[in-house]
This record gives sequence, C-alpha cells and structure tokens, in this order.
Amino acid sequence: MGSVGAKDVPVLMTEDGRRIDGRRADELRPLRIQAGALRQADGSAFVEWGANKVMAAVYGPREVHPRHLQENNKAIVQCKYNMAAFSVDERKRPGLDRRSQEISKVIAEAFESVIFVEEYPRTSIDIYIEVLQANAGTRCAGVVAASVALADAGIPMVDLLPAVAVGKVAGHVVLDLKKEEDNFGEADLPMALVPQSGRLVLLQMEGHMTRTELSKALDLGVGGCRKIYEEMKRALRERYAPTGTASAMEVAA
Ligand code: UDP
Repeated sequence: MGSVGAKDVPVLMTEDGRRIDGRRADELRPLRIQAGALRQADGSAFVEWGANKVMAAVYGPREVHPRHLQENNKAIVQCKYNMAAFSVDERKRPGLDRRSQEISKVIAEAFESVIFVEEYPRTSIDIYIEVLQANAGTRCAGVVAASVALADAGIPMVDLLPAVAVGKVAGHVVLDLKKEEDNFGEADLPMALVPQSGRLVLLQMEGHMTRTELSKALDLGVGGCRKIYEEMKRALRERYAPTGTASAMEVAA
C-alpha cells in the first residue's frame, strides 16, 4: 500500500455544487427518529441519520449515585456517550477515552441548561447514548436522540434540542457533514439550538473558518436544526398521538 497523498482525497464538491453523496450544501442526510424504542428505560429514542445509528436511554429523576454528587437545590444531569467497538471501520477500543468523556460533558451541560433542574432537587437525570454505527455527527445524533428520550421520559424542559454539525468542505460552507467531509474537510462545527429562543447551548469547532464563513455556517446550522426539530416533534406525536400514517418520514432540505 502506498502512502496517503492528495490523490487519495475524494472529490468533496463537484463543479455543479454536489457533495460526495450528491447533496447540495444546505441539505441534511435522511433522518429517522423513533421515540420510545426501549422497554426498560424511563424514556428512549433511536435515531438513524445518514449512516449513523444511535440509541439513547434516559432514567430519572432518580436517586443520585455516587451520593456525594447530590445537589440540594437541583437535579444533576449525567451523560454517558459511548461508541460501540463495532461502530466504526477500524475497531474502536472499547471503554472510556478522552473523546467520549468530552462529548459526555458537553452534552450533559447542554441539557442542564434546558431541563427544569430546580424542580427535582437531590436527584439525578441520567442520559445514556450508545453509538451503534458512526459516520460523523454522532454527538449531534446523540443530542437529538437524548432530547426525544428525555421528552419520552416526561422530564420538563424549556424545549427540545435539535443539533447538527456544519462545516467547511472544499472551500464551501455545508450542512451536516458525513465521514469523508469530516475527515478531509477544513472545518467541523457541531451545534445544538433551543428553537424557541434561538439560543445555542452546544457549540464546538475544529479547523478554521473566516468570520464571514462562520456567520454563514451558523445560519445554515440554525436552519438545519429547525428542520430536525420538526422531525423530533413528529416522532413524539407518533408515539403519543398516532395518526396511522406512515411510520417514519425522511427529512431532506
Ligand atoms: N471516528 C472513528 N473512530 C473514533 C472516533 C471517531 O472512526 O474513535 C469517526 C466516526 O465516524 C465519527 C467521526 O470519526 O462519527 C467524527 O468524529 P468526531 O470526533 O468529529 O465526532 P462526531 O462527528 O461523531 O460527533
């Protein structure tokens, strides 16, 4: 096998503005959400988003473990994001690593800012996110799944929390990066939005963008989040007020 050179970088954007999977810059991958996918959890959701498959389970409000983390005036929000060993092409080493610790932390903080934690002092709300198949944007798919799972568990929140990654690929600002775009692109910017207020509660960035590109990326991400929001609400309506129509809808921009 030869060394990886420029010739190995796939064509990420064609001259007529099509991406590696044929999408336009502002298009989402197909998204399918199932609320209440698990029987044992208080709330759950399964998300298939492009080639990502992510399950979220929520428990609580329940007793805090370990006890010393208990807070007298609010619930604590704990999150465990885990990527299965079989979720990626090259087997991922099982267990906690720095990346999953970081993702768990930013997701817990995002949810702590939308859950009415003061209503449940001395309890814990526990979120488990299991990535079964990964193709970039798994933290966003995890936020979407966890958000629907929290609603399914009946935990009061300001709003649902749609999330998506935007980025820069072959010089273009694009919505919802897939694996090759994440690997070979210039920037990756995951975000989560509170739709009613327009507040961003998760915003990270890897790579470089100009100020103008950043502003365009944020607009694109907010628009993407609003479409994802509709699918999240649809999944919950389907669980709690089924109409007998199609079981899932594919969302594309
Ligand atoms: N990835 C991988 N092995 C790892 C971590 C990540 O193959 O140990 C892949 C996986 O497809 C993931 C993508 O790289 O979705 C991008 O990872 P990143 O850290 O940017 O997080 P994500 O985009 O999934 O939120």
